[in-house]
Amino acid sequence: MLINMVTEDALDWQESALCAQTGPEFFFPAPGSSTREAKQLCGACEGRVACLEYALANDERFGVWGGLSEKERERLRRKEREQG
Ligand code: SF4
Repeated sequence: MLINMVTEDALDWQESALCAQTGPEFFFPAPGSSTREAKQLCGACEGRVACLEYALANDERFGVWGGLSEKERERLRRKEREQG
């Protein structure tokens, strides 16, 4: 049961996710398409930090999460690995 409670708490941010009110095309744009609109929405989202932490912890490879694109999250991961 503790695991379920932790999982539910860890996903609380999804209840206030602004992206749930838009179409997925903003957050999973075609390669080479702009991520600007998604990032603007993330900037106003209460769950932004938790969302980014979730994406990093679960190695989400596609789309915009917590205001960062795939490449930006990869850069962040690389920097964290380098710093140990
Ligand atoms: S930070 Fe962005 S991707 Fe994450 S829940 Fe909010 S709107 Fe969605």
